[in-house]
Amino acid sequence: MAEQINASVVNLCMIKLEDNMGRRFEKLRISLLNECNFSCVYCVSEDFGNISAKSIQKPNNDQPLTPEEFTRIIEAVHRLTGLKSIRLTGGEPLLYGNLFPLISHIQKIGISDIRLTTNAYYLKEKAAKLFDTGVKSVNISVDAIDQEIFNGISRHPNTSRVFSGIEAAVKAGMNVKLNAVIMRGKNDSQIIPLLDYATGLGVKIRFLELMKMGHLYHSENELFFSEKEMLAIIQEKYVLESIQREHAETSNYWRTSSGGIFGIIANESTPFCHDCNRLRMDSNGIFYGCLSNAHGEKLSPFIHDDFMLTEKLSGLLRLKQPVKFHGSELSMRNIGG
Ligand code: SAM
Repeated sequence: MAEQINASVVNLCMIKLEDNMGRRFEKLRISLLNECNFSCVYCVSEDFGNISAKSIQKPNNDQPLTPEEFTRIIEAVHRLTGLKSIRLTGGEPLLYGNLFPLISHIQKIGISDIRLTTNAYYLKEKAAKLFDTGVKSVNISVDAIDQEIFNGISRHPNTSRVFSGIEAAVKAGMNVKLNAVIMRGKNDSQIIPLLDYATGLGVKIRFLELMKMGHLYHSENELFFSEKEMLAIIQEKYVLESIQREHAETSNYWRTSSGGIFGIIANESTPFCHDCNRLRMDSNGIFYGCLSNAHGEKLSPFIHDDFMLTEKLSGLLRLKQPVKFHGSELSMRNIGG
């Protein structure tokens, strides 16, 4: 009897956790830590100091949560939302020391679809083990094929390791997607080389419009390169066929006349907030219902109180933008890309 009542309370909560546009939280992205071995120009400002207008509120010596702490919170959120998948990101998630214990904890609470977003610098050594542990899908950030351009964007002297990481993930059997943020005058020359590299490897690539986040929030965004401009460059070389967008996809996809598949994540030109199903948690356990909202909510005090947790999650859901992302003082490095 008590179990039946509990089950109906949970069902009621799940019904309530839908907004008036029919959006629910189905995918959780977790920034495991703020730290990254790259200092990409879109995450880190010119003076290497202010990674985010908000980072002043976060002491640098902040310790990320332990696997047990992360798992307790995820379990409670999963109980009320029925999460379908989790993406581990950062910072650089492969720098999180307890990555493998965390993955097995998450699996034990009944979420098997666990994905990763990484710069792939340390992926060569870890790809096969990740695959065997159950991480079947990985998004890899790669902003240029030209080493000088890539090193310049990532401010790292040796980005060639990224390519051996990508190839190891493909070899391990992972579903690999590449992501490249395209910036005017920095790597717009790399769209075709990146597309041809991905096509040759048999993987999808997505080009991202630059988003006004962190130190870019107050800038003019003169690096912005639009979806239309990206398509024009690709159409000079290939005939394109558009592919039907799937529910809650961040990207629109096209197939090229050479058989390659690419997407464009165009926050500005083709916004996709209307069916967004993402919830985010940072490395301190602070939750964000919308990328445009820099004011998160700590949920750990409510994990044993379904009523309060539902109230808090509903509040986060209400913060979702109706139409489009309008920028955030948080850097992706804090909130998780
Ligand atoms: N370190 C991992 C990586 O490099 O994939 C994960 C975190 S990183 C913040 C994830 C991705 O977020 C970046 O590679 C980039 O694709 C995206 N990103 C960060 N800031 C961005 C911005 N201002 N505009 C568009 N994409 C951004």
